[in-house]
Amino acid sequence: MPAPQCASCNKARAALRRPRSGQALCGACFCATFEAEVLHTVVAGRLLPPGAVVAVGASGGKDSTVLAHVLRELAPRLDISLHLVAVDEGIGGYRDAALAAVRRQAARWELPVTVVAYADLFGGWTMDAVARSTSCSGRSRSCCTFCGVLRRRALEEGARLVGATHVVTGHNADDMAETVLMNFLRGDAGRLARGGGLGSPGEGGALPRCRPLQLASQKEVVLYAHFRRLDYFSEECVYAPEAFRGHARDLLKMLEAARPSAVLDLVHSAERLALAPAARPPPPGACSRCGALASRALCQACALLDGLNRGRPRLAIGKGRRGLDEEGPPREPQLSRPPSSQPVPDF
Ligand code: SF4
Ligand code: ZN
Repeated sequence: MPAPQCASCNKARAALRRPRSGQALCGACFCATFEAEVLHTVVAGRLLPPGAVVAVGASGGKDSTVLAHVLRELAPRLDISLHLVAVDEGIGGYRDAALAAVRRQAARWELPVTVVAYADLFGGWTMDAVARSTSCSGRSRSCCTFCGVLRRRALEEGARLVGATHVVTGHNADDMAETVLMNFLRGDAGRLARGGGLGSPGEGGALPRCRPLQLASQKEVVLYAHFRRLDYFSEECVYAPEAFRGHARDLLKMLEAARPSAVLDLVHSAERLALAPAARPPPPGACSRCGALASRALCQACALLDGLNRGRPRLAIGKGRRGLDEEGPPREPQLSRPPSSQPVPDF
């Protein structure tokens, strides 16, 4: 049976059915619709004002590649300029190839690119060194916990370095739904309460941060990359199989098979959640070491580095964190650069 006609242009043959709506579209109409939906997300949410200098968190993977490509298409209409910021976590055999993909993209799109490295920012710690340290303590599964916190900080530092006014990341709807599920499964009410919305407005002097692809499904991100023939890096990080996120992903796939709207429903549920007064985290103050926003004495990044420098990485995770706050000063300095004059958030 021949493919149906595109429901938008009524001329070309349809090349796909949109996963959520079932609408049959040709490749050109799908890409135009995808870009229009991202434009709507940005404009309706007032995420990127005219004149914004936008640091795009670029990993070389499909999400950030699609995000950078779409924003580059939309940049004249939005009146924004873009700068790719890539983070080198120091993961041997993985990150070098991904960074090469970022550099190829930057050259093709004629966009500036800056790479910031964990080793430079965090007193010599790379993710490989963190993994060795945490595996000695039987916590190799926590690599992504360390990496997520440090990467967020590194991206903020990189964005400041290039004079950005805003930070964007490529998280899609599936990523956000997984995060909501993980936070539920861990009973992490604080993160659940902070996770809603399309981004954060820049609390405590931090750069405003947003996720323009947050309402786009992973399948459509892949389809967009396919039809636009984007070159991206698709290998999985060596530490990913250990991550708790994998369980949330599997669970989400089962839920989506039974109820296709489960992904977006979860994303929207996080936006509408309200915590009971007793469960609300205390208002954040400033980290006593680096000045970042922190709900305890130390921000998450300093707490994790503190535990690593003490040779007790477990201290900084979960309940052990309390122990860190109560212990004395660390044996080694933490963030290797002087603290910013403005506090930056650690979540
Ligand atoms: Fe970092 Fe985990 Fe992602 Fe690897 S999978 S880059 S360790 S967050
Ligand atoms: Zn700190």
